[in-house]
Amino acid sequence: MTETVNFDSLGLAPELLKALTDSGYTTPTPIQAQAIPVVLAGADLMAGAQTGTGKTAAFALPLLQKLLPFANNSASPAKHPVRALILVPTRELAIQVEASVRTYAKHTPLRSLVVFGGVDIKTQTPHLKTGIEVLVATPGRLLDHIEQKTLQLNQVQILVLDEADRMLDMGFMPDLKRILALLPKQRQNLMFSATFSNEIKKLSDDFLTNPQLIEVARSNATNDNVEQKVYHVAQSDKETLLTQLLKASGAAQVIVFTKTKITASRLSRSLVKNGIAADAIHGDKSQKERIDALDAFKANKITVLVATDVAARGLDISELPMVINYEIPSAPEDYVHRIGRTGRAGASGTAISLVSPEEEKYLVEIEKLIKRQITKETVALEKTARPSANTRNIEDKSSHSRSSAPHSEAATKRMPPKKKATDPWFDKPYEASASRQESTVRAMPARKIPVAALLGGIRPNK
Ligand code: AMP
Repeated sequence: MTETVNFDSLGLAPELLKALTDSGYTTPTPIQAQAIPVVLAGADLMAGAQTGTGKTAAFALPLLQKLLPFANNSASPAKHPVRALILVPTRELAIQVEASVRTYAKHTPLRSLVVFGGVDIKTQTPHLKTGIEVLVATPGRLLDHIEQKTLQLNQVQILVLDEADRMLDMGFMPDLKRILALLPKQRQNLMFSATFSNEIKKLSDDFLTNPQLIEVARSNATNDNVEQKVYHVAQSDKETLLTQLLKASGAAQVIVFTKTKITASRLSRSLVKNGIAADAIHGDKSQKERIDALDAFKANKITVLVATDVAARGLDISELPMVINYEIPSAPEDYVHRIGRTGRAGASGTAISLVSPEEEKYLVEIEKLIKRQITKETVALEKTARPSANTRNIEDKSSHSRSSAPHSEAATKRMPPKKKATDPWFDKPYEASASRQESTVRAMPARKIPVAALLGGIRPNK
């Protein structure tokens, strides 16, 4: 029997407890129960926590508490230096983390701000100049501000590296080193990572001093609340199968992952043509388009959000019932991140992967990483469910015809002749184009992760 911990017993200040009550939180999650006392005690922290475990509050609450003695209502910017810096890999995560910080800090005078790329840097400067204690940033735009001397980091007491594994995947190491060199040596460092690779261990050796190690779930494990399924299907039949599964599931909100931005756009347009309310979110969309798509998805105005890995990173959509991998990722850790979008905060979810013969090798790697075999499903492809045809008459035999055969007979036998992609760009992996992206996003040797386009920008705090 584990002892029940509550937020009061963690020694949090009344202002923070009030904000938690407002948010409807009653009990700390395991990562919160373990991390909060460590951070309050002033130790460096290396925490292994999956998405959806409540890790943001696990660092944000004690961080705010440590800054409370400095909280003030002075109008002077000098009284509000940046005291806590939270570095995150993507702008979506940056927005969410800062929103959480603001929620938890709402009964205190502490100020927070988020900066990320994609908008005119000049619009950000006035907000920075007002003075803020907690800055959430993507590394690229933070460095831009430092270069423009619109930001001082010499008062930073606490540094958080959130989703550190993704930061490394995205090639942020050189930027991180530059930023760390600008911070005061005397500071507290907190590092959070969903997966523990050797590279992460090396990063923690370099950046943390005698860190306390906390791991709330087996590293590289997938959430037990998520039912995982695989359909073996030819690439050319994926769209048909996807449409069929979406219609049969009746799920109100589904994130569909693709490898490339072009596939994401094309697929979302095609789903819309087939009567499924969908939109795409990826690095070629403007910041406004991405926020609009996300808001529409959260408000249940669209059912399907088609996303690339980078764009979807860190999205917190509560009680997301289903995630579909239209293409499985070549980096197995990305599978863990993707399916972490569902089954969050104790809710159950379904994660479906459509795997073509060419992707088999990635599936093998994924199963090795998560140390389990994913249930193989079969389904008869309905001609009527083809994107170009009337899609009303759908037959989903998935629940009746479980099969451990490596390929779905039903799906493969009824395949039409392979369609050629009309445009070879559809199959091209995403490549960064802007100069900042080229210089900061080093391709990791064995990974083709769609990167960049999300770096650097600001959202006003108010
Ligand atoms: P995170 O892992 O930080 O992305 O958090 C996942 C979700 O859990 C977010 O929607 C949080 O608002 C929610 N959450 C965090 N802590 C708690 C808690 N103690 N009780 C209930 N929900 C929580």
